[in-house]
Amino acid sequence: MRLLERLGVTPTPSSPPPPEERAPVYGRSPVGYSADLGRILALPRRNLATAYTAADVEALEAQLRAPPGPCSCASMSPPRPCPTQLRRVQAQALLEASRVGGLLAPIGTGHGKELTTFLTPMVMPGCRVAVLFIPANLLPQFKVEWSYYGAHWRLPNLAGGRWFRVGLPVLHVVSYNKLSSQEATNLLERIRPDLVILNEAHNLKDPKSTRTGRFLRYFEEHPRTRLVALSGTFASKSIKDYAHLSRLALGEGSPLPLAHHVVEEWGTALDPGKVVAPPGALEQLCEPNEHVREGFQRRRNSTCGVVATEESALDKPLIIRPRYPGPVPAQLLAFIELAHAGERPDGEQFQEQLQSVACARQLSAGFFHRWRYPRGEPPELIEKWFARRKAWNKEVWEELKGERREHLDSPGLLTKAAIRAHLTPPYEGDKPVWHARTWAEWAEIHAAVQPEPQAVWVSDFLVKNAAEWARSQVGIVWVEYPELGGRIAKAAGVPFYGGGKAASEAILRETGMRSVVASIKAHATGKNLQQFCRNLVVTPPSDGATWEQLLARTHRPGQQAPYVEVEVCLHTQDFADAFDTAFERARFIQQTDGQAQKLLLRP
Ligand SMILES: [Zn+2]
Repeated sequence: MRLLERLGVTPTPSSPPPPEERAPVYGRSPVGYSADLGRILALPRRNLATAYTAADVEALEAQLRAPPGPCSCASMSPPRPCPTQLRRVQAQALLEASRVGGLLAPIGTGHGKELTTFLTPMVMPGCRVAVLFIPANLLPQFKVEWSYYGAHWRLPNLAGGRWFRVGLPVLHVVSYNKLSSQEATNLLERIRPDLVILNEAHNLKDPKSTRTGRFLRYFEEHPRTRLVALSGTFASKSIKDYAHLSRLALGEGSPLPLAHHVVEEWGTALDPGKVVAPPGALEQLCEPNEHVREGFQRRRNSTCGVVATEESALDKPLIIRPRYPGPVPAQLLAFIELAHAGERPDGEQFQEQLQSVACARQLSAGFFHRWRYPRGEPPELIEKWFARRKAWNKEVWEELKGERREHLDSPGLLTKAAIRAHLTPPYEGDKPVWHARTWAEWAEIHAAVQPEPQAVWVSDFLVKNAAEWARSQVGIVWVEYPELGGRIAKAAGVPFYGGGKAASEAILRETGMRSVVASIKAHATGKNLQQFCRNLVVTPPSDGATWEQLLARTHRPGQQAPYVEVEVCLHTQDFADAFDTAFERARFIQQTDGQAQKLLLRP
């Protein structure tokens, strides 16, 4: 209720009460004492609110402010105010990063993380070369933001930019996707940064992914590199999502465990999920009657090098309500039931739970994906092809679980290394080779079958309903699947923005005078879409962090409407479950991150 009051939302009598906290069912033993816990309990606590004086902030601004000159803020579309002063949290983040030599910043959306990342190299002592990682879908607006802030602040030299000022650090701006690409296997080694800045740092949450593997390897080989990590949603599912980032940013001063097994153990008491452990020794982080997640969050946020926001950036109501575009055709419901039992509508048997969940979600939207074979390959060949493909995929999977090395740290590079290993005459270059057991069999057959994914439509009831919504009001229709988005857009006579650079640029040019259909994957992160105030989420994501990002596209500073509305299609159990899971995760994020989660603002 505190949250609702803060956002000025008055609960209406007809609205359902928020779900009660479920009584915990403990399946594991209590969290024990560890050297990590002892270290963390002994870390000094500091009060961020009193750590810096107004004079500190003024001195920082004076150091960073650009000499007065012309700017084009007022002629931007829409016009923007001149950013002549740092927000409190921006100043705190910059001062703290410079004092501590690293930063962990759980800062929510709409608090000006961009300018903070631009200015960090200017305040980090002795910084010469910095790399800033950003999500690829922020690249289209990067140049606009850089010149907007550059007119008022002294920014570093941009690598590849038109100007070079001697004595200032150089900043390389790279997308996380680029870090995943094959040619980026030694990208950081080539740039040799002494400072790495991560905006939306949750993009490196998975230590097993190619991109995170490369990032971790660089820090292992260059341990003196400084790390500044910012994100509104560091931990969407687990504290494991950012324990490694906290360790690299703050070292022995990290408020999260350094030892992997201790991170795992703490997760059993702090992460959301069915199997939880009692807090045990973690109670030492708590005041009497404090929930362990809150105690942990308070410990974290009062640690030197941590700058967190706690208030929502927009003081306007966010209204989320379910939408039932029913009745759902009986045939569709029957197919969904079949999918949960392990079978696709065309008779294909699934190999794993994930496939059947994915299929049921597609069916909830009116279609399903299957492979088709336009070249007419015989069934025996197809069967053999799948078996060898599976064996090969499994070997790659196993190989990537081990230690990652340059030129061997992604599926594509492993394939190349396997090809080199099997060359006649033998390969004599200096790149590594990989003697994969299953390669020869897979190489022999892999081109013999060429399946194409195909969407098979069962019903367009959801397409029609969403198109009707888009025609009768102006807003954003959010979808997971491009084929669904394309159909809704066509039926409504409005544009569909899927993946790719052109779509990212075009959606930013929308004036908010007509509805648009947008891909959640491509546009729900980072973009400023406050020209819209109504949303229809056709395929609800099950991830709390994705929700937080999606809602923040329109529920953000600059929103002119009195409130933001979101309708969520909950017409099947699969979609309702996804929404509940998201709600659960949103609560977890709020309790540990201290970010006011927008999903919890349902009136
Ligand atoms: Zn200006």
